[in-house]
Amino acid sequence: MEILERINFLKDEINKANYKYYVEDNPSISDFEYDKMFAELKDLEAKNPLFIAPDSPTQRVGSISEKFLSYKHKHRLYSLDNTYNYEDLEKWYDKIVEEYGEQELVCELKIDGLAIALTYENGIFVRGVTRGDGITGEDITNNLKTIKAIPLKLFKPVNIEVRGEIYMPKTSFEKLNEENLKNGEKLFANPRNAASGSLRQLDSSITAKRDLSMFCYTAILEVESGKLKVESNKLNNFQLSTFNFQPDTPKSHFDSIMYLKELGFKINPNIRLCKNAKDAVEYCKEWDEKRFELNYATDGVVIKVNNTAVQEEMGFTSRAPKWATAFKFPPEEVTTTLLDIETGVGKTGVVTPVAILEPVQLGGSTVARASLHNFDEIKRLDVRIGDKVFIKKAAEIIPKVVKIVEDEEHFNRPEYSAPQKCPSCGADLKPHAGEVNLYCDNPDCPEKVCARIEYWVSKEAMDIDNVGPSVIEQLYSKGFIKNAVDLYKLTMQDFMQLDLVKEKSAFNMYNAIQESKTKPLSRLLTALSIRNVGKETAGLLANEFGTLENLKNASIEDLAKIEGVGGIIADEIYNFFRIPETVSMLEELENLGVKPAPPVQNSTDELKGLTFVLTGTLQNMTRDEASEKIKQMGGKTSSSVSKNTSYVIAGENAGSKLDKAQKLGVIILTEDDFMNMIRR
Ligand SMILES: [Zn+2]
Repeated sequence: MEILERINFLKDEINKANYKYYVEDNPSISDFEYDKMFAELKDLEAKNPLFIAPDSPTQRVGSISEKFLSYKHKHRLYSLDNTYNYEDLEKWYDKIVEEYGEQELVCELKIDGLAIALTYENGIFVRGVTRGDGITGEDITNNLKTIKAIPLKLFKPVNIEVRGEIYMPKTSFEKLNEENLKNGEKLFANPRNAASGSLRQLDSSITAKRDLSMFCYTAILEVESGKLKVESNKLNNFQLSTFNFQPDTPKSHFDSIMYLKELGFKINPNIRLCKNAKDAVEYCKEWDEKRFELNYATDGVVIKVNNTAVQEEMGFTSRAPKWATAFKFPPEEVTTTLLDIETGVGKTGVVTPVAILEPVQLGGSTVARASLHNFDEIKRLDVRIGDKVFIKKAAEIIPKVVKIVEDEEHFNRPEYSAPQKCPSCGADLKPHAGEVNLYCDNPDCPEKVCARIEYWVSKEAMDIDNVGPSVIEQLYSKGFIKNAVDLYKLTMQDFMQLDLVKEKSAFNMYNAIQESKTKPLSRLLTALSIRNVGKETAGLLANEFGTLENLKNASIEDLAKIEGVGGIIADEIYNFFRIPETVSMLEELENLGVKPAPPVQNSTDELKGLTFVLTGTLQNMTRDEASEKIKQMGGKTSSSVSKNTSYVIAGENAGSKLDKAQKLGVIILTEDDFMNMIRR
């Protein structure tokens, strides 16, 4: 027992020192003392491997994974609606006041990093998942364990999901790039890319070497405690002695952030409770100026209604909470010289002009190209090659040219005229109905075809590593591929015939393509480039229908029913699957062995065949969460009561739906009844 006590003592001391250093920024012991304790703990654990607990600081050093597994979020991660000026922010607030009266607001800096969801069971860190599309992310637990600002064990044994932003301090980002430059390695464009690249390492010992940190900003407490799964393979029982602990449930957002702090999480110190929108505007103005003094990148302010009960009443749109908004800081602007205007053909055939610039620093990265949107925009701005231009960066989007500097020489330069022929195939360019863009409609246009295939292999779609744009161009020009389907017909020998490709990289490319055959359905749906179906919608479709077969057979009504899809998109999807080209393409893909994996299901079908209608305010969860839960368990929800309704769940202040249920004789459940029903 003595050894275990010593191990626990060392573990606690080191965890405490980590907390002091990485969370509070206030070191409590010297490096020497720290290293000594760490070495002793490592030694003791090596001799007594049974005593290695998951929250031991020695577990932060890293391991190698083959790939990241997808994980379906228990609670969806929503996006935020944006506001770009103070007026809109006040309007947003006024609308809330109209319905709910004056509300306190919480202002927090929006950290420009990567959103992550962390799960703790009985206070022990068990899982960390990337945001992904908000519904499904990637399990990167091992990498997150190497980040010392993330506690492995909390001060209280709660079941909680915590969300926050992983970021790399600006100074660490600069140092990393300096080193990479020295070693001839790739440079990162900005701190966020560096953080993302560091997090997505299959070898987490690389992640461990990068200086990453995390600010936490959302707490979702799992209130039903007492049900705990004790991992019996290791002696974790010792840490779980207080499992009867009942967590307090914070009644406001601000309290929940303070609660996170109490649990041992790092929170951003610049959070502020504001009385109203006027105060919030003050906060935004203040930080718009001061943000450059911070050692981390921030691109705005997140403003949330403080009162949790009001939040629940307000609920969500299909993509974002109604009780929160992100105020975006006005972007930085710089001037530089326009060296040239290049044109490129996109996957839809759209021809777009790109500004080639004298390289310049903007918002923490070097910019050498900027968007000019379309040829109308060039005319409107009267941009001429050789002009001095203002460029600015809008948060996520590539920089764009906003205006010219009207110097005298400007008028001596020739005006720019839009091309009439496709830069790739020479076909005549035409605008499509109702659009200002020019299109190349030649289905065999080389650049268009390549853009389609490039999108197919991109991170967003099938995520086929090792097969980049230059490989695709070569494969195409050598006649090995004419479309994305052809990728699956390629042999190792085909790759060997490309310039500079040796056996090993040929194998890697071949292999990456083969592996993509069983990627999740949502990726295949994204790759198909159905009009108006991006990553998020593809995720919704995959979740709803599970298989390609089901989706192909879905009626327009089935499609339109999905929250976030709607009538027009439903039409497009329905029609897409009935185009002969689509039919033969999907057939060919299937024959080549492309069999997408169904969406990750950590759910059951206990509520299969049942339809629920929710009404009134629930206490334990929002209505959205309740319907999510029902769907996860195989049930359906509907917005109106009919004979086909199995149950009506009536919360507080339930209205006409309750009356109708009584009239129709539909069974009415209280929230408690429902909670009992879904408890496993
Ligand atoms: Zn063309």
